Amino acid sequence: MHLKTLTMKGFKSFASATTLRLEPGITCVVGPNGSGKSNVVDAISWVLGEQGAKALRGGKMEDVIFAGTSGRAPLGRAEVTLTIDNSDGALPIDYSEVSVTRRMFRDGAGEYEINGSRARLLDVQELLSDSGIGREMHVIVGQGQLDGVLQSKPEDRRAYIEEAAGVLKHRKRKEKALRK
Ligand code: ATP
Ligand code: MG
Repeated sequence: MHLKTLTMKGFKSFASATTLRLEPGITCVVGPNGSGKSNVVDAISWVLGEQGAKALRGGKMEDVIFAGTSGRAPLGRAEVTLTIDNSDGALPIDYSEVSVTRRMFRDGAGEYEINGSRARLLDVQELLSDSGIGREMHVIVGQGQLDGVLQSKPEDRRAYIEEAAGVLKHRKRKEKALRK
């Protein structure tokens, strides 16, 4: 399993649709300061369901939508699609390629799709929770985050381990059932 393509449209500095093709192995993104390298990483976190504006380096969720430049008007929505190669069946879905899309509008409304069909955040989380791709730190390790894990409270550290072990999915289901 590996990430195949990432398409961003109206997401942060990527006003026009921009697709990055990723090969198996290590990918490096290089470019001058402010050219959007970290925005690419933010796009991956976001499409996988990140709910915190701060984790996306913004003040509010709407900050992920292209805000305009001197030469280009702001846009009304952000959209990111991540395509994952699933030919080894690592994701529990009967497709050799899985695409996850997230879309958000200025009024705060948002939606997800899995292979083009409407899905809930929970569906996206469940699809990915046993795969080692998730929104938590064992996938995307930001600057200073390692210190955070070492200094975190035992229950927070436990959550990281649970997600890595695939237990989080069952905990989320249980919490949802109890809320009903
Ligand atoms: P560095 O090398 O300094 O880490 P970087 O390549 O990681 O730089 P990013 O942080 O990804 O750069 O991109 C910053 C740019 O993205 C800034 O120019 C900022 O104005 C732009 N940007 C962020 N959010 C938006 C938005 N909503 N609309 C338009 N531009 C945005
Ligand atoms: Mg950066």
